[in-house]
Amino acid sequence: MAMSEEVHEGSCCCGRVRFRMQGPFGTFSHCHCTDCRKSHGAAFATYIGVGRARFGFLQGEGEVGSFTTATGTRRGFCRNCGSSLTGTVASEPDMIYIAAGTLDTPLRLKPEYHIFIRSQVPWLDLQDGLPQHREFAE
Ligand SMILES: [Zn+2]
Ligand SMILES: [Zn+2]
Repeated sequence: MAMSEEVHEGSCCCGRVRFRMQGPFGTFSHCHCTDCRKSHGAAFATYIGVGRARFGFLQGEGEVGSFTTATGTRRGFCRNCGSSLTGTVASEPDMIYIAAGTLDTPLRLKPEYHIFIRSQVPWLDLQDGLPQHREFAE
């Protein structure tokens, strides 16, 4: 199977929510925006995009809550354990972005760049050599 058609599975911290996705995958990037930082409780979030038709919950879809931020991003999370799972944006209705840290299968792809560097925390020293965009990548 071509690498671009790889199947990956992920789950939340408590294991109630499990999902599967199949490539080809879209944008894979680190986002430093304030919403990502807060919803993950981390210096940044890493999301990989996949077409909605190639994403599905294996179990626990009913446990997935959502919150829409002021910028219009709808964030899906496990209601039981709070794990960040998905992000969707109105401008890309056919894509779903998956919080890459929730994957249980090894993803060989690498993130392409950092976005929203303008909101980067001052205590993070980025040295991965990836392009850094102040807001969205052009
Ligand atoms: Zn959970
Ligand atoms: Zn973000």
